[in-house]
Amino acid sequence: MNQNIISEAAEVLRSKIGATKVLTDEFIRASYNHDISLYAYDYSIPGMIILPESVEDVQTIVEEANRLHIPVVAIGGNTFGNGNIESNQGIVVDFSKMNKILEIDESNMTFTVEGGANIHAVNETLHKMGYCYPTYPLCFGPITFGSEVSKNSGGEVGSMFGHVAKRVIGLEAVVGTGDVIVTGSSNTLKTSPNFIQSSLPDLTGVFISAEGAFGLITKVTMQMQVVPKYTAGADVKFEPTKEGFKAACEFVNELRNYKGLICNAHLLDCYSGWLDERFFTGSTDISAEVEEEALQRAGHIVLLEFEGYTSQEECDRKVTDALKIAESHSGVYTGTMMSDIFARAEHGDLKLTEIVYAGGFVGCMIMTNTPYEKMPELYAAWLKNVEELGLPKPYTSMIVAMGDDCCMPFYYPWHPRRELSEEAEWNATMEKWRELANRTYEDALETGSVPYAVSRKWKPYLLDKLDKGYLSYIQGVKKLFDPNNIFNPGVSVFEEAEHESN
Ligand SMILES: Cc1cc2nc3c(=O)[nH]c(=O)nc-3n(C[C@H](O)[C@H](O)[C@H](O)COP(=O)(O)OP(=O)(O)OC[C@H]3O[C@@H](n4cnc5c(N)ncnc54)[C@H](O)[C@@H]3O)c2cc1C
Repeated sequence: MNQNIISEAAEVLRSKIGATKVLTDEFIRASYNHDISLYAYDYSIPGMIILPESVEDVQTIVEEANRLHIPVVAIGGNTFGNGNIESNQGIVVDFSKMNKILEIDESNMTFTVEGGANIHAVNETLHKMGYCYPTYPLCFGPITFGSEVSKNSGGEVGSMFGHVAKRVIGLEAVVGTGDVIVTGSSNTLKTSPNFIQSSLPDLTGVFISAEGAFGLITKVTMQMQVVPKYTAGADVKFEPTKEGFKAACEFVNELRNYKGLICNAHLLDCYSGWLDERFFTGSTDISAEVEEEALQRAGHIVLLEFEGYTSQEECDRKVTDALKIAESHSGVYTGTMMSDIFARAEHGDLKLTEIVYAGGFVGCMIMTNTPYEKMPELYAAWLKNVEELGLPKPYTSMIVAMGDDCCMPFYYPWHPRRELSEEAEWNATMEKWRELANRTYEDALETGSVPYAVSRKWKPYLLDKLDKGYLSYIQGVKKLFDPNNIFNPGVSVFEEAEHESN
């Protein structure tokens, strides 16, 4: 990016929105040049960081960026990774100061927040009033609502409720021309409160999963619900074989047909179970001799967490009914230890985090959205790749959040870092994990999965397989919203930036 253009824009923006909101010091810009993924993308150093405080500020930034053709990328907590926050040496819009709750509408059970509001902080406020926003990831990081929508998060804690898309009522965004657009079908009538109805086509969906490529989200309205009063859990064990894994998937798939039995469900494969056991016993023996027995002990485990509103009996009855269905799939009830740990983790208890890091957690490798019936095939492919690459199986782990709409497997590489003395060995192993990730991406697409956030990592795999008609339409729509391709260019299925370099 041409430095003179950046300097010109910085000067104009300082005069229009205030000097303290425009940061150009090198040490600050340099701190925005990487993400947290396994690939640890090194981004280019942004030309400037801007901290807007209002929609008007955002409009001014976009108008200036549009005038000078400067790339713009929004940032929330920067917790996602996979290369989705590349500034192309342009502007990073850090939403951390636009974090207010604007409205909590109890009669329509919605709340409206600014794009940079933190989901856990908002939840704290809602909880005090007896409400909650239930679709949040198992992560107490600085995740914002603008990015929840932009990534269409869901996963672990949201597995009961499906992805974010199901809960968005509408939003406000600044598009590439600097115009403000308000979406959500109730919002189209100025007199209407926020509620779900469908009198006109709704453009909200364009912003969901868009990774900031269609506009900067300044406001989001979401559905909330009453906090459940009662909970009950169950751990259900299946044979530690491919057949056992299939039976576990079929069990949860059947369970979700009964709306009264909707629950949070997670499948921990037998290697995850063995890893947990090693944490609890302090054992470090991962030899082939102990493997068979350890895996039999662990099994593949489905963790169920039920919620109730009227009585504890209501919850307990759901567990009893679910266990009957589990039995018909050869699942065996083994208590509540792990489901309790998961349930507590969702409410801030750090035991799970302790297990995770004591186990040698390296980082979540990838996540996919996979149909229930395809999950066993994908698991078999994963194990085959682990074997072929000679990676230590006792340090692989797959945790599948089993959602309302699909399965969301999280593939975890763990690493016995302490047990490795040589840096070279560590690097070689990390290379193998990356190769495993690449193979898993390919297998996932082959077996009918769709990516959880395309970002830059999935792009080459996806472009190849995407329907060309759809691709050309969605790229055409992008041109309408962002005629000069300034928003996060190159992310997802969209074109790279064509901005002069000097
Ligand atoms: C430990 C851990 C556990 C996790 N567990 C889960 C899980 O259980 N389930 C799950 O679904 N996910 C999970 N995630 C992923 C999580 O959902 C994402 O990391 C999170 O949604 C990203 O939020 P963020 O604010 O950090 O976004 P960022 O990483 O800052 O940004 C994400 C994307 O959103 C765009 N964006 C940000 N703000 C805006 C805005 N205002 N307007 C337009 N675009 C914007 C960015 O440009 C970027 O493309 C986990 C992540 C971690 C680190």
